[in-house]
Amino acid sequence: MVNTTDSTQVSDNIKAENLDLQFIGNQRLKAACIHLDEITRSLFDLLSAPKRTISVCFPVEMDDGSVQIFKGYRSLHNDVLGAGKGGIRYHPDVNMEEVQFLASLMTWKCALIDIPFGGAKGGVSCDTKKMSQREIRALTRRFISELADNIGPHTDIPAPDLYTNEQTMAWIYDTYQIMHPGINNRPVVTGKPLSMGGSEGRREATGQGILYATQQFLSKDLIPKLSSVSGARVAIQGFGNVGAVVANLFQEAGAIIVAISDSSGGIYSPDGIDLKMAIAHKSEHDSVVGLMETLTITNEDLLEVECDILVPSALSNQIHKENASRIQALLIVEAANGPISPEADVLLCKKGITVLPDILVNAGGVTVSYYEWVQNIENEHWELALVNGKMKHKMHRAVNTVVQRWQTLNNEGKVSVDMRTAAIVVAIERLAKVTIQRGIWP
Ligand code: NAD
Repeated sequence: MVNTTDSTQVSDNIKAENLDLQFIGNQRLKAACIHLDEITRSLFDLLSAPKRTISVCFPVEMDDGSVQIFKGYRSLHNDVLGAGKGGIRYHPDVNMEEVQFLASLMTWKCALIDIPFGGAKGGVSCDTKKMSQREIRALTRRFISELADNIGPHTDIPAPDLYTNEQTMAWIYDTYQIMHPGINNRPVVTGKPLSMGGSEGRREATGQGILYATQQFLSKDLIPKLSSVSGARVAIQGFGNVGAVVANLFQEAGAIIVAISDSSGGIYSPDGIDLKMAIAHKSEHDSVVGLMETLTITNEDLLEVECDILVPSALSNQIHKENASRIQALLIVEAANGPISPEADVLLCKKGITVLPDILVNAGGVTVSYYEWVQNIENEHWELALVNGKMKHKMHRAVNTVVQRWQTLNNEGKVSVDMRTAAIVVAIERLAKVTIQRGIWP
C-alpha cells in the first residue's frame, strides 16, 4: 500500500529544503506580492515582520518540589483591522520563529474571512504529556501573569491551539480576571467552557468550517472525479480538537474515513474506520493505534495512503519536498496551520493536486471565536443554529472569493498560481486598503 522510505534518507533530503518558518512566511508573501499593485507591494516590509513579540522565561514549581524554567512567547503580527487574535499552543517545539509565522497566518486569515481582528499567536515550549493538571494550571497562570497587559479584551485575545483546550482558556480567563477585577473580562479569551461565556459550536467550529468550505469548493466541480464529500475516501493526520471533529463530521456527511493518526502513529482500514470504537480505544489506551481490524501505519505512511481527500490536522511542514511526490490524494485540505512546505506546494501543483489553504479552510475556529467575543461584550448567548448559520455564510463567501481570484489570476496566465497565493492576495489587498485609509501615524 505504502512505500516506507528509509528515515535517515528522508531527514537528509529534508535538510536540503529550507523549512525555517520565517523564511517560508516571507517566500509566500513575496509570491503574493507579484500580483499586487505598487502601493500594496510597498507595504511588504511592514507585513513581513511582526508588530511586536514578547518573550518570557518563568519558573514553575513541579509536583516533586523541583523548579523548572519554561520559555513562552506571544507575537502580535498586525492589528490594523482590530485586536490581535490567535491561539496559544503548548508543545516542546514552540519557538519564537514558529509563533511569529503562525501570527502572520492569523493576520491573513482574519482579513480573508472578514472579521475585525488582527493576527497574533502564542505558546510555551513544554511537554504537557509529562505534566500533571496542577502543573499545567500553574504554568498557564504564570505565563499569563508574565504576559501582563500585552493581552487584553481589546488588544490581543488568545484561544486554544495544539495541546490547549477549554480548561486552559478557563485558567487564562481566571488569571486575567484576578489581575483586572471589576470589569467584564470575558472577551479576553475565546474557546472558554460554555458555563463561563463560551460560544455554542466553538469546540467543533474549526472542523465544522472545514466541512462547509470543502463542500462549497467541491460543489464547483473543479476536481475531476471528486464532486462531493459524500462517498469520498478521507485520510486524517492528527486526532485532536480539529482532526477528531473533522473525522466525525466528514463521516456524517457520507465520507469513508480510511486512515487516522495521533502522535503515536496511525491506523488504516480501506473499508472505513469505526470512529466510535477509535475514540473509545484512544480514551483507554491514549492512542488510536492498535484498534481492532485496522492496520497500524506510521504518520508518514498516512500522508501517502490512497485516498481522495487528505486532511493534515497536526503539525507544520508534514508534507515537504521529499514526500510530496508520493501523495496520492486528489485534494489536500489544510486543517493544520502550515502543514505543507513551499517546495511541496510546487510539486503538488505540478501533480495536479489541489490544496485548500489553511488561512481559508480552517478559519471557522477564529470566526466562531469572534462570535464568542461579540456575545461576551453584549452579555448574550446565541443558539447553535445562529452561530453555525453565520459561520457557514462566511466560509462560503470566502471560498467563492478565493476561487474567483484564483481563476482570474490563472487566466491572466503568466505563471500558474495556486489557491494559497490567491488567498494571500485577497487578504493583503484588504489589509492594505485599511492601512492606507487609516494613514501612517503621525
Ligand atoms: P490538539 O492538541 O487538540 O490535537 C493535535 C493532534 O495532533 C493530536 O491528536 C496529537 O496526537 C496529534 N499529533 C501530535 N504530534 C503529531 C505528530 N508528530 N504526527 C501526527 N500527529 C501528531 O490540537 P488541535 O487544536 O486539533 O490543532 C491541530 C492543528 O490545527 C494545529 O496545527 C493548529 O494550529 C490547527 N488549528 C487549530 C484550531 C483550533 O481551533 N483548535 C483552529 C485552526 C487551526
